[in-house]
Amino acid sequence: MPADRESEGTLPRSPGQIVLLVEDNLHNRKIFASILSHYGYVVHEALTGAEAVKMAQSVGPDIILMDLSLPVMDGWEATRQIKKIPELRPIPIIALTAHAMAGDERRAREAGCDDYLSKPISPKKLVAEVQRVLGKPENPSAL
Ligand code: MN
Repeated sequence: MPADRESEGTLPRSPGQIVLLVEDNLHNRKIFASILSHYGYVVHEALTGAEAVKMAQSVGPDIILMDLSLPVMDGWEATRQIKKIPELRPIPIIALTAHAMAGDERRAREAGCDDYLSKPISPKKLVAEVQRVLGKPENPSAL
């Protein structure tokens, strides 16, 4: 986790902002990873909730995009576990879900998600959300 997290908003962000993308659907994962890389974010991919919890600790992402329907451990449980770890707690977690039913946003927020995008999620909408939360990378490598 960057040392400047506490002063976020007062100092320029370091380049190479890290996104942990948690999505078991190969098609979505490839599209989301490729658009985020194109916009200059460094993307790490996790396929299960259990992997997400491990990688949140090893990678130290600046933001986590969390699908909720996942094998092994679902996104709600992974979010709860990540938010229990004090050093990881400040990392914004954005739920990505097809569960666009009434009550699902509340469930995602109760698990600790900071925000919520319902599927279908266009690449534009995803990038806009990450930019809103993190700001744009200073040195986008792919542009
Ligand atoms: Mn899924």
